[in-house]
Amino acid sequence: MKGFIRIDPERCKGCSLCMEYCPGHAISLTNRLNLKGYFVADFEDKKECTGCAVCAVMCPEVAIEVYQIEKTDER
Ligand code: SF4
Ligand code: SF4
Repeated sequence: MKGFIRIDPERCKGCSLCMEYCPGHAISLTNRLNLKGYFVADFEDKKECTGCAVCAVMCPEVAIEVYQIEKTDER
């Protein structure tokens, strides 16, 4: 199972919890500010994401949506 996430930049407060707990180290802090003045986190789509949803569980602002991609058998 692979996955990807979307982070709502206006909910994010840059607390880094998602980054600390992501087993694939697939989230990093950007130099972009949101309207509240926080540097926001973003998904690094070149990194490995399993869709495990640990980041979404850890996020205190409920800013992360997780999507899982099911592999299809192409035989
Ligand atoms: S779903 Fe899992 S692997 Fe993907 S970014 Fe979140 S914590 Fe990391
Ligand atoms: S845990 Fe949530 S609020 Fe904290 S940096 Fe990650 S997305 Fe932003």
